[in-house]
Amino acid sequence: MPNTQTSTPVAVPAVSPRLLATAAGVTGVMLLLAYLVAFDQGGLSQSGMYLHELMHDGRHLLGVPCH
Ligand SMILES: [Zn+2]
Repeated sequence: MPNTQTSTPVAVPAVSPRLLATAAGVTGVMLLLAYLVAFDQGGLSQSGMYLHELMHDGRHLLGVPCH
């Protein structure tokens, strides 16, 4: 008996939408954290210079322009 059903190839995305959304979210959080640590002068964090002073040695270690 011949096989009448033909198998059609199914396209499987290499990157799922859920993985893409998760990667975009993690990237956004990491960019925000990098901004807060390296470049924020109190404008976004609304903490005055507290965050700047807290991260000051790390900023110099990373070579971020400071003073
Ligand atoms: Zn400094």
